[in-house]
Amino acid sequence: MAAIVGIDDTDSRTAGMCTTYVGTVLRQRLVDQGIPVHRQLLYRCHPAVKRKTRGNAAVGLHVEADPATILPIAREVVETHAVIDDDRTNPGLVIAPHGPDRIPAAVATFARNAVQTHQSLSTARSIAGDHDYHMCGWGDGHGHIGALAAVGAWDVTTEWTYEQLTYREPDRWGTPRTVDTSSVFAAADRWYPRIWDTVDRTADEAVCVPHTPGPVLYGLRGDDPAAITAAAEMIDSEPTSARTLFHTNQGTDAHLRDASLDALVDGHCYRTTGRVVDSPVTQRGGHVFVTIRGDDGHSIECAAFEPTKRFRDHVRALHPGDRITVCGEYTDGTMKLEKFAVRELTRTTMTTPSCPTCDRTMSSAGADQGYRCPDCDRTAPGKVEQPLDRSLSCGWYEVPPLARRHIAKPLVRGGFDAPIHPER
Ligand code: ZN
Repeated sequence: MAAIVGIDDTDSRTAGMCTTYVGTVLRQRLVDQGIPVHRQLLYRCHPAVKRKTRGNAAVGLHVEADPATILPIAREVVETHAVIDDDRTNPGLVIAPHGPDRIPAAVATFARNAVQTHQSLSTARSIAGDHDYHMCGWGDGHGHIGALAAVGAWDVTTEWTYEQLTYREPDRWGTPRTVDTSSVFAAADRWYPRIWDTVDRTADEAVCVPHTPGPVLYGLRGDDPAAITAAAEMIDSEPTSARTLFHTNQGTDAHLRDASLDALVDGHCYRTTGRVVDSPVTQRGGHVFVTIRGDDGHSIECAAFEPTKRFRDHVRALHPGDRITVCGEYTDGTMKLEKFAVRELTRTTMTTPSCPTCDRTMSSAGADQGYRCPDCDRTAPGKVEQPLDRSLSCGWYEVPPLARRHIAKPLVRGGFDAPIHPER
């Protein structure tokens, strides 16, 4: 009989555990007992949830076994490997007595919503209860939300990507990682763009190697499991303990909703379009702000924060009148930009005329009186149109790989509605 196991919120900020590792250990434990595990899912839920654990990732396993057989094994693995004594870690385990081809509509809907908006624990528990799912929770059991979402994920994700996670030997956790960066760059160059966000070439950084104290040595993301596996073979590193390939909704933009500017709700992520109102401003700390106004007359502030690095240059290059589509999280009235598309560029600007005889800039001749040359008294009726030198082109611009959110779609993956300017 088929079953789906969902696990979430086993991470700890301080001890650095990782739910994918708990999933990897459980998978191995099941396989060791002769239980087939067909696939593993890494499902990223709503990134704007305030109490999220690090990446807000839940894990699902598609298993061929009776839930009653799986339950004690899964419970023991979570209890052994989750950091239960961290009071901000509240693991949840959900086991559904059906395979991925039998996901109930309510569970699928819950999974879809969990990527785009906050879901309550009581809703998760009530849906799981309606379908006779096994549930185990620790702490306040908050992890039941992500665990149920991971159970329904297969039905609502149309565009799976992959991540192969390679884990460290446990006695090395918390020590500096030994990964040969030049081999990572060679693997990235060989397999890009079938793998992506492996490195940041401009920043010269191996993005796939985390800095947190957890069990992951590196994670390779892409559209093609064969390319990911081949790339992993090229990487020289310290000894590793395990390697698991996950189906993921990373790099898909599944968190974004389309809405007009007057319809944005705080704490959600959107794709919305407006016109640049005034020149972008760089504030203290290097954060860049620009205001856009929609066709409905509603304005919002957009921000490219300092960690988005060279992406800020594209935002600074915007000009009043440009029409752009912006994507990102809308919080406290500000859109935190992940990417934007230039739809129309302002090509000219109105400037004070110069005298055709003396080449001097004219001065105002008084209200509604036009302009006059201070030297020869030649006049001009008003401002003149000057061509603008633009560094931007039409199409999509994005944050660099080192600043990418897990769920945000890299431009190189394609499928965008305008030309793309990918960051590598
Ligand atoms: Zn003159």
